[in-house]
Amino acid sequence: MADGAGSLQRVQGVAAPPHRISPRVGNAATAALLFVALPLLTSHAMPRLLQQHDYLNLDVGVALAVAAVSLNLLLGYAGQISLGHAGLLASGAFASGIATSRWHLPMALGMLFGVVVAAAVSFVVGLPALRLRGLYLAIVTVIFGLVMQYSVLEGSFFSSGSAGVTLPRGIDNATYLVVCLLLLLLVWVIDVNIVRTRLGRAFRTVRENEAVAQSFGINVTRYKLLAFVVSGAMAGLAGAMFGHAILHVNNEKPFDLSLSLTLVILVIVGGAGRRLAVIIAALIFWLLPSFISGLHAWAYVLGAVGLMLTVSRHPEGIADLLSHQRRPAVGAGDDDDDELPALPQLPVPDRPVTVDALRSDNLLEVEDVVVRFGGLQAVDHASLVVPAGKIIGLIGPNGAGKSTLFNAVSGLVRIDAGRIRYRGREIQSLRSDERARLGIARSFQQVGLAKDLSVRDNFLLAQHQLAPYGDIEALLMLPRAARTEREFATRTDQAIEALGFQQLADMPVRNLSGGQQRIVEIACLLMTAPDLVMLDEPSAGMAPAAAENLAARLRDLRDALGRTVLLIEHNVPLVLDTCDYVYVLDAGRLIAQGEPRDISADQKVIDAYFGAAVSA
Ligand code: ADP
Ligand code: MG
Repeated sequence: MADGAGSLQRVQGVAAPPHRISPRVGNAATAALLFVALPLLTSHAMPRLLQQHDYLNLDVGVALAVAAVSLNLLLGYAGQISLGHAGLLASGAFASGIATSRWHLPMALGMLFGVVVAAAVSFVVGLPALRLRGLYLAIVTVIFGLVMQYSVLEGSFFSSGSAGVTLPRGIDNATYLVVCLLLLLLVWVIDVNIVRTRLGRAFRTVRENEAVAQSFGINVTRYKLLAFVVSGAMAGLAGAMFGHAILHVNNEKPFDLSLSLTLVILVIVGGAGRRLAVIIAALIFWLLPSFISGLHAWAYVLGAVGLMLTVSRHPEGIADLLSHQRRPAVGAGDDDDDELPALPQLPVPDRPVTVDALRSDNLLEVEDVVVRFGGLQAVDHASLVVPAGKIIGLIGPNGAGKSTLFNAVSGLVRIDAGRIRYRGREIQSLRSDERARLGIARSFQQVGLAKDLSVRDNFLLAQHQLAPYGDIEALLMLPRAARTEREFATRTDQAIEALGFQQLADMPVRNLSGGQQRIVEIACLLMTAPDLVMLDEPSAGMAPAAAENLAARLRDLRDALGRTVLLIEHNVPLVLDTCDYVYVLDAGRLIAQGEPRDISADQKVIDAYFGAAVSA
C-alpha cells in the first residue's frame, strides 16, 4: 500500500487474464456482481440505523457520499491511507451536536463548527503522515479511530460516550434532504476545483514522486498536510450531516472502525481518484441493504467473494467499468519525435521578479562540497563555478558522483561539508522546493516528470511556482485562480503544439517513448521560468541523430533565451561542441577543468574517462 491503490492496480492490471467473452457482457456481469456484493459486505453497519426510520434516509446516503469524496481526496489523489476516517466524521458530528444542542446555535453554524474542528483534528492526524507511509500510516490512523472512539469521546465533556449528543435539526425531513444535496454539490464543486488547480496536481505529484514534486517547487510537507486538512474538513461536514440526519450520535454509533473500513472499500471499489464513481458506490451501498435483510450470516462471505472477483477483474473499480470502452491506445513509441523545436517557439514564461539581484558574476558556486553515503564519499571536496549566461559541462565515468552533485545543488541530498551559493547567496540550508523557486531547474537521469499524469498535466504542473493564487482561491476557483489556470492552459496548448505532440497530450507520460519523455521534460523545465537549467544526461534515451538537435537547443537556451546551463552528458562530442567550460569528475573528485579543447587533450581525462569509454 506504499502508494495507496496505485501499486495494487498496476500489479493486478498486469496479471489480469485476457477477455474471452465480449468485454461489454463481461462488464455488465461484473457490474451486477459488484452491485450485489457491495451492500452484502457492508450491510451490517447500516440496517440498525435504518430501523429508526420509516423511509430510506437518503440524507444519510448523501452524507456517506460526502465522506467517500473526502477519503477519495486523501487516498485517491494524495495517496495517503486513512483507516480512521470515522474518527474525523465523529469530530464533526460531536462538534456540531455540542454547538447546536448545548450552545443552541443554528444548525448551519453547528456544521461550520464541525468542519473547523474536524479540519484541526485532521491536521494533527496528518503530522505522522509526514514521516510514515503505507502500512505504518494505516496503523497510526486505525489507532486514531480507536482512540477517538474509546478514549476521547468517552470523556465527560462528550456525555461519557454512550449517552452521546443529540443533533437537533430545526427543519423538516424533506428540507433537510435538499440541504444535504446542496452540500454534496458544494463538496463536488470544491473537489472539481482541487483537481483543476495546482492543488490537485501537487497532491498527485507528491503521491507519485516526491523528488520530482520538489524539483517543480512543490513543498511536499505543506501539501501532505493540506490534503489531510481539506479531507478532514469534508469529513467533518459529512459527520455533521450524518449526525443531523440520525439526530443522535454516541461513541459507538455510527462512527466506528467498520465505518472507516467501509469508506476505504467504497473508494477502492468506486475507483480511487474517480469522484463520480465513488459517489455512485456510496449511494448503491446505502440504498441496497434495506432490500436484502435476512441474509446476514452469509452476507459477508458472498460480499467478500464478489468483491474479490470484481476488484481482480477491474482493479480501477466502477470507474473502470464505465470507461473501459474508450481508453486511448497505449504506446506511441516512435523515436522520430526526438526533436525539440527552436526554443523561441516555445512559450517560455518570464520569471516573476527575481528574489535577489546577482551579487556575483557566477550564478552558481559550489565550494568544497562533500557528500557521503555511509562509508562512500560520493562527492569529495568538489568545487565549481557556473557563470551567468554560459553552458558548463560536467563529465566523468559512471559512478563519478555527477548526479549526486546535482542532487546536492538542487537540495535532494544534504551536503556533509562545503558551501553552495546561488546568486551569491548560500542556499545549502534551503529545502529543495525553495531552491526550485529561486529559479534552479533540473532534469533527472530517469526523467523527472509525474509519469502517471498526462503530458498536458505535466505542463500545467511545471508552472506550479508561477501561480499567484492561494489555497482558498483555488478551492473556490475565485477569479484570480480561474484566470491563472486559463493562462496556464493556453501556454500548455501552445507548448504542446510547438512540440507537435497534440496526439499525445492526454496520454500518461509513462506511455511515451524515452525520447519523447525527454523532450517533454526539457520543455517542462522551461515552463518553470528557470534562470539555471541543470540537465542530467539529456541525450540518454534519445536517438543518436537527436543529439545534434539537442546541441542546437542548448545554444538556444544560452543565446536566444539568456539562460545558464549546467550539463551532465555522456555524449562527449556534444559536450565538446556546446560547452564553454568543462569540469571532469572521477570518484567524487574533480580531476580536470578547462575549455573543451584542453580537456580533450588532457591525459588524466583520457585515462579516467575516455579510456573507460573506449574500452567499453
Ligand atoms: P554518476 O551520476 O556520476 O554516474 P552518482 O552520483 O549517481 O554517479 O553516484 C555516485 C556514487 O554514489 C555511486 O557509487 C553511487 O552508487 C552512490 N550513490 C548515489 N546515490 C546514492 C544513495 N542515495 N545512497 C547510496 N549511495 C548512492
Ligand atoms: Mg548519474
